[in-house]
Amino acid sequence: MQLHGKNIIGDHVSGRGAVTFQAVEAGTGEKLGPQFFEVTADEVDEALQLAANAFDDYRTMPPEKIAAFLAGIGEEIMAAGDELLHRANSETALPEPRLIGERARTVNQCKMFAELVREGSWVEARIDRAIPDRQPSPKPLLQRMLIPIGPVIVFGASNFPLAYSVAGGDTASALAAGNPVVIKAHPAHAGTSEIVGRAIQVAAAATGMPPGVFSMLHGQSTESGLRMVRHPAAKAVGFTGSLQGGRALFDAAAARPEPIPVFAEMGSTNPIFILPDAVEQHLDSLAKGLVQSVTQGMGQFCTKPGLVFGIRGNGWKALEELGGKLASEATPGTMLHAGIFNRFQQSSARAGDVANVRVLGKSSTKAGSSQAAPIFLATEAATFQQNRLLEEEMFGPATLMVNCGSTEELEEIARNLPGQLTATIRGTDEDLMRHQNLVRILEQKAGRLIFNGFPTGVEVCPSMNHGGPYPATTAVHFTSVGTAAIKRFARPVCFQNFPDAAVPVELRRQNVRKIWRLVDGHFTKDDF
Ligand code: NAP
Repeated sequence: MQLHGKNIIGDHVSGRGAVTFQAVEAGTGEKLGPQFFEVTADEVDEALQLAANAFDDYRTMPPEKIAAFLAGIGEEIMAAGDELLHRANSETALPEPRLIGERARTVNQCKMFAELVREGSWVEARIDRAIPDRQPSPKPLLQRMLIPIGPVIVFGASNFPLAYSVAGGDTASALAAGNPVVIKAHPAHAGTSEIVGRAIQVAAAATGMPPGVFSMLHGQSTESGLRMVRHPAAKAVGFTGSLQGGRALFDAAAARPEPIPVFAEMGSTNPIFILPDAVEQHLDSLAKGLVQSVTQGMGQFCTKPGLVFGIRGNGWKALEELGGKLASEATPGTMLHAGIFNRFQQSSARAGDVANVRVLGKSSTKAGSSQAAPIFLATEAATFQQNRLLEEEMFGPATLMVNCGSTEELEEIARNLPGQLTATIRGTDEDLMRHQNLVRILEQKAGRLIFNGFPTGVEVCPSMNHGGPYPATTAVHFTSVGTAAIKRFARPVCFQNFPDAAVPVELRRQNVRKIWRLVDGHFTKDDF
């Protein structure tokens, strides 16, 4: 496929801007063709207007048609074949086996949301029948359900060039809810984005979608993304990336005359709390598992464990030694892009420079190498508590092991941590029962609690919660992974005393879609 480098606006392409940029080969820094056209203000306006125009047609389409569109996206992505994998591999340095897995996840997410739309109960229909002779005042007929919110801006994530980028979870869930989507492609994988964007364009045409249901815009300057968020037709934003980026978009959305929600998934250090019996009984598997979780994908996962806490003693000392040794033997690797590599070097060096922070082990790279070297650092609780910068995410293959003097100190540290995507406890069942205080504290801190596992690896399923209190996300009530992610891009509406024929089909007396509904407080699929 010859890449055109242009912005995809509905059913056509556009490259009206004078400014262009090129993608680079992540491993070598060599420029890759073609030139990509930075989106202009006019093009942003055109894409958003088109999305606003498409909204009414799209949201009222039969669920079967929306499901066919979503499934079609998956099929077109597969039809792009190896070319997609090769381009993604060049732009991100992620190995092809990982990209094959990520592509499968992307396609499965599309299928999963297609099935959710077909089944239909996601709209959470709630019906309270009227009681006209109720005293002292009659009860009206009330019917409530979720409806789509309007055009959604999605920022592609650099660390998941397929599964959380152009056709990723944010896009699939926003489209499934009935919203047009305008993508801000990540410039670090602009070519991969074009291949996937074109697949969506083809699927939209083949399934009879209104033009404007999908657009994809390129931009290397933060102004382009901000312009999209500030556009009056935008109604919500999905984002995965840095705290600075997410916060800038959140602030811009809040400062609009009409503020809109920003579902930003940002940094997290995913603390692991290792209870004493776990170290005594499982030293080897614990150390190996930890190093594997920290270095997997060059540590470029939002769920990478960046902080490990435990009680000092011989067991902890042995874990530090083995963890450091294994980290020094781990293989260095290329990161997603030069910006991420530079930030990793800076953040790990800054942590390492704090007085009383020791290097337990670091794998070696040649001087001046652009490969990231896995590194394990260590300190004790007092130093950690006095240096807030040690709480910051080191996005890459690094972790900091912190030893505490007592369970009380471990709990105190947990209480002071900022919001997290995950928190993990390692120990025996008895350990866990003895540390219920810690569990209660971590419930308040994280979106997902893990027992005797590692936080990397996020299952895509209905019960997953991938979210958490700020600064892990800007919207603690929601998940960005799994079917519940659709709730971000829908809002409730309630009809009071409407005739049956005038409410959406999901709320009518006859339950023709056979969805689950809460009628007078009871879940049922019956008519009412
Ligand atoms: P990023 O810098 O946050 O960029 C992500 C997207 O947001 C890009 O499209 C970027 O546009 C846009 N953006 C960033 N700052 C913005 C601003 N101030 N205003 C408007 N748009 C803005 O993320 P990245 O380039 O993927 O990686 C950088 C760092 O993010 C990493 O070092 C890591 O710390 C973190 N990160 C975290 C996760 C996670 O899952 N939590 C994932 C990836 C990265 P432009 O490229 O056009 O500037």
